[in-house]
Amino acid sequence: VVTVVGSFAVGLTLRADRFPVAGETVVGRDFDRGPGGKGSNQAVQAARLGADVEFVGLVGDDDLAAIAWELYRREGVGTRYLGVVQGRNTGVGFIVLNAAGENLIVLDPGANECLEPSHVERARERLARSHVVLTQLEIPARTAVHALRLAREAGVTAILNPAPARPLPLEDLALADIVTPNETELRILLGLAPDDPSDSLNLCRRLLDAGVRTVVLTRGARGVLVVEPRGVTEVAAFPVPVVDTTGAGDSFSATLAVSLAEGRPLMEAVRRAAAAGALTCTALGVIPALPRREQLEAFLAA
Ligand code: ADP
Repeated sequence: VVTVVGSFAVGLTLRADRFPVAGETVVGRDFDRGPGGKGSNQAVQAARLGADVEFVGLVGDDDLAAIAWELYRREGVGTRYLGVVQGRNTGVGFIVLNAAGENLIVLDPGANECLEPSHVERARERLARSHVVLTQLEIPARTAVHALRLAREAGVTAILNPAPARPLPLEDLALADIVTPNETELRILLGLAPDDPSDSLNLCRRLLDAGVRTVVLTRGARGVLVVEPRGVTEVAAFPVPVVDTTGAGDSFSATLAVSLAEGRPLMEAVRRAAAAGALTCTALGVIPALPRREQLEAFLAA
């Protein structure tokens, strides 16, 4: 049983040979519109692995919201705690890809900005009977922190995927049992520059000193560092033919959550998460790339 507290957004994507300069119009192609948002992606990944998942989030009172309802119906994500905000638009991201594969993104969080601790309160009972609560920072930080607090009070494992990163007080971070930053997020979380040259391991130890039980640092193709008070364990990445790494972090955190909810030991859960993250890199897009349980088991058995 996993509960995800997070964001939903619709991605509107176009390809163009190059980015326009200010005031210029360039002609693009391959328009695509599809569901995204870190919380939503993680809820879908958890459901694809067979977990009992509820998603605590908000959509707007517009027609883009239908994309969320349709997605969760199809994927089997519970919507008992998915609300509609009157007078706000559903979260939306405009993405332009150039010929070099670089992206330019403008986001309007819309309804996601309205997700308050009171919405999490409404799901209190559900949180308390979850094995794992998983949240991110694409919603107001006070809401994510409230989810961590309720989980802590109920003795439920709480995972914070601190993305997109912003500096958070250490006492708030300490409410998470597990924090899953990448190397840039780790720095921003601690109030440092994204490219701060400090040793990552020392930065992880700062989180431990603050009271976080485990830092799971994701390092793309360089794999994962699991940093605990009793020591550091390196988990290798699975080599795969990479097509598009978008969504690897979402797949990773959700698979970690599901694996722990299944009662697996931490290192096995991290290994499964790394495998799911790697599989997500082998296909274009996020939702189409998130592996199902059969695919994950087959990959791990190979
Ligand atoms: P984010 O997408 O949040 O930046 P990462 O890129 O670190 O997160 O990806 C999360 C995890 O997914 C990594 O720790 C790794 O296990 C897996 N992964 C990501 N990129 C690759 C890759 N190129 N090859 C193999 N595994 C990868």
